[in-house]
Amino acid sequence: MFIGVDIGGTNTKVGIVSKLGRVIAIDSFKTKVPRDAVDLVEEIYTVTQKLLKANEMTLENVEGIGVGVPGIVNDNGNVVLSVNLGWKDLDFSTIMKKRFEKDVVIGNDANCAMLSEWRFGGAKDSKNAILITLGTGIGSGIILDGKLFRGTNGMGGECGHMVIVHNGEQCNCGNKGCWEQYASAKSLARRTEIVAKQNPSSKLNDVIASYKKASAHTCFEAAKMGDKVAKELVDEYVDYVVCGLINLTQIFRPEIFIIGGGVAKEGYGFIKLIDTKLNNFITKNNMGAGIQVKRPVLENNAGIVGAACLAMK
Ligand SMILES: [Zn+2]
Repeated sequence: MFIGVDIGGTNTKVGIVSKLGRVIAIDSFKTKVPRDAVDLVEEIYTVTQKLLKANEMTLENVEGIGVGVPGIVNDNGNVVLSVNLGWKDLDFSTIMKKRFEKDVVIGNDANCAMLSEWRFGGAKDSKNAILITLGTGIGSGIILDGKLFRGTNGMGGECGHMVIVHNGEQCNCGNKGCWEQYASAKSLARRTEIVAKQNPSSKLNDVIASYKKASAHTCFEAAKMGDKVAKELVDEYVDYVVCGLINLTQIFRPEIFIIGGGVAKEGYGFIKLIDTKLNNFITKNNMGAGIQVKRPVLENNAGIVGAACLAMK
């Protein structure tokens, strides 16, 4: 048995995971950010003990512990930067190991999601695959030649910060025009608000009013109602997503793109739209065989299973 811990900006989930990737039991609590890491580890420890006890196990039965963190994690398990948790240069691995008195592996959350899909989900047995999470930012995990790509000291593979518009929108990474400034759910929310104001007769305004706030979801909802402005906005958004995917195709040429995050669950044929645009480009430009585009299989438990994967040999 393995313990997988998925620390998110909102919730922290703890799960007991079998070596075949099955979630045996799961519990969660509010992360309450910003939060002192020692205090958070104490709560993770308490929840883990409770979960193990309820399943007639102890830490002695646990073969490995993995933790997924929303941020950049280096090879030593230090959290170099996590904007969501408010952590910088934090030796999280040592704090975990000390409390659990066991080896603990720390990893980036998107890498965890990629690992779970690669071991047990939609990218199983593939040699080259890329997972993209469209959320507040863009998370990414890359499997290259049958191995998780981490870059020097774990600092690589940040696809969300590849520049797609030179001198474009300011990004919090210090650069301008990063992919996540155009293709994240947050950027779609920002565009939705602007475009709704420019088009007072669009249904977008009614939908936004009913939710009291513009979001990626309000754009999709108005598009599903047939609103022309919202449909064009989704189209524009898909173009931005595909722009980045074409860049990644040219560099890594994966067999599969897995697209996760809240936006990917919106329906409206969103994944199909991406698939069509990407593969039309590949065909038109004689770039060889097509690339599969799909949603994650493990979805809600991907973080926990992926964290457990970190600890599996
Ligand atoms: Zn950036």
